[in-house]
Order: sequence, then C-alpha cells, then structure tokens
Amino acid sequence: MLDWQRFETQFPMMMSALRHAKRSGRMAHAYLVVTSNPDYRIAFPPLLSLLAACTSPAPDGSPCMKCETCRQLSSGIYPDAYTLAPTSKAREIVIGKDSDDIDTLRWFEGLFHLSSVTESGWKIGTIQEADTMNESAQNAFLKTLEEPPGKCLFILTTGRVSHLLPTIRSRCQTLALTDNKCSYRFPRSADLPGILAGLCDNPERSIMKAEDSARALIDIADSLYEAAEKEVAARWKNRIETAKNLENAGVKLLEKRIEGEIGSEYRRYREQFMSMIHAWFAQRALLASGIENSLLPNPEILDGGALPEKTSEEKAYKALAFAEDLLKAMRTNVNDELAIRTFCLKVTSKA
Ligand SMILES: [Zn+2]
Repeated sequence: MLDWQRFETQFPMMMSALRHAKRSGRMAHAYLVVTSNPDYRIAFPPLLSLLAACTSPAPDGSPCMKCETCRQLSSGIYPDAYTLAPTSKAREIVIGKDSDDIDTLRWFEGLFHLSSVTESGWKIGTIQEADTMNESAQNAFLKTLEEPPGKCLFILTTGRVSHLLPTIRSRCQTLALTDNKCSYRFPRSADLPGILAGLCDNPERSIMKAEDSARALIDIADSLYEAAEKEVAARWKNRIETAKNLENAGVKLLEKRIEGEIGSEYRRYREQFMSMIHAWFAQRALLASGIENSLLPNPEILDGGALPEKTSEEKAYKALAFAEDLLKAMRTNVNDELAIRTFCLKVTSKA
C-alpha cells in the first residue's frame, strides 16, 4: 500500500478535508502541493490521484485500493496518468513547439485532448517542480487551468511557491505539507514569531524598526553556537570528569568527538532557525491567499498577530520570496549579519 496512512498520521486535518471533498464530489480540479520536503513531492501526487479516481471509495472517502483504477494507479500502470518534470539538463520546463515535442508543456497538454481509455475515465497530470516552468510555459498552462477539460485532475508540486505566477496559484487549491510540526527546538525559538511579526508590521516602513528586527534575528543566529556548546558539554559532563585520569591520547580523542558533536548540533539549530523563518513566511502567504487556518501545517508558530489584516497576497508572497533568498544566502556562506540585514530591509522597503 502506498503511503496513505503515513500522510493520514502526519497531516490529519488536511487528509480529512480531502476525503470529505471526495465524498461530497467537490474535489478541486487542480492542486498545488507546496512542500520543502522532496520526498513528499514524489509521494503525495499518487495519493491524490487515487483519491480522485477510485471508483468505489470507502465510506470515509478514502480510496479502496482494490478497484481496477486503484490497482493500476498504485502499480504505476494507469494509462491516463502523465507526469511532466524539468528535464535533467536545463532544469526547466519550456512551452515547446507542438504536442510531439516531448517533455514540454505542449506535449503534456496534448495528452489531455485524447479520449480516456480507462474505466474511471479520469485523466491525471502531475507537473513536478512546477516552479521550473518558465514564464511562457506558466502562461500557456494558465489557459488550461482556466478552462480545464472534463474529468481531469492536475497536480502541481513545488518547493519554491513564490516562483509561480499568482494567477497559477490562485487557480489551484494549495496543500501545504511541512514537517517539523511543533518541533522547532533551538534557543529562543519562542521569540522568533514575535520578531517576524514586528518586522512585517511596519506601515511607516521605518528603517530603524527594520534594524531592530535585524538586530534581534542576528542575536538569535549568533547565540546558536554557544548554545550548541552548552548542550553538548552537558551531555558529556560525566565523561569529561573521568577523562581527567586518561592519557593524553584519550583526552584528545574525546575532545575531537565533542567538537564534532558541537558542530552537528550547531548545524541542526541553524537549520531549524532558517526553516522556522521560512515556515512563518510561507504560512503567512498561504493565509493571505485564502487557505484555511486549519489546513496550515504549523499554525502554532503564527500566533502573535502574524497576519495584519491588510497584508495583500502579493505582498505576502514577495516577503516569502525574500525569505527564500535569505535561506539561500545563509546556506552559501554569505555573512549571516549581512544576509539578515539585507532581508529585513527588503521586507521593509516599498518595492
Ligand atoms: Zn478504488
């Protein structure tokens, strides 16, 4: 069986909403799966396909896994399921010349104009890494989304939702699959939502206020290494005591191990710090585009007035794009202070 149960456990609200949509015949014709976890981008679209196309679903709406459609879909031989993905070389999805131009948008769309050969009659198209569609491909696909052929399900996946045209986003139902529910565990993680809310709630666009937010974020980033040292020292306290009786070589070995652990603890803290910033802005953007609060993966981190009433969708997605830039900068050895200051100024600036 596919990962149905795993997703039920991990995203109970979302899965129950989807099952309900199936029961009441109100599934969307296009879903946008937003997640930074590449495994989910692969594993989730087949489940949505099963949900949509199963011909004898269980009373709760979940797919039976027994009908012909379910069997074909779960073994990957369903004849009317197509996937479009960026080709390995260019990492881009282009519009293409015509329907014979394989792995292009025109080719993909052409498949939906043939008649269905399946029992269920459903045609299912998945666009993996939809953000790699260039702008002309996105615009072309938009037309299909606006007037979808009957009994078609489109599933788009992305890890960089801000790279999609707002018009594409608004014509899909967004499903946000984010890990780490309630598990941000780094020093002062509880302060982070308040700091980010303060950064965004700056109608006067005061540079001073942006600098305050930057300072607060830099303080947290700076404290992570020391916190990692403390954490690891506490873990090794007893061993360090006994090591005083060891020979020199033994002590050196122990020191090396501790050093390694501090490094990995620090990287973990830092990754969580970045991931929480991203989740905060991503969820704020999803809220601004109308997704229900109950469908957010980490609503708890938005507490504290994260979404001032007037945040427009456009502004929220712009801020998310800046947050994505920040993560990229912090991962490529740009000086943290500089990256954080630049980020705070961008969020604050008018443009
Ligand atoms: Zn079935």
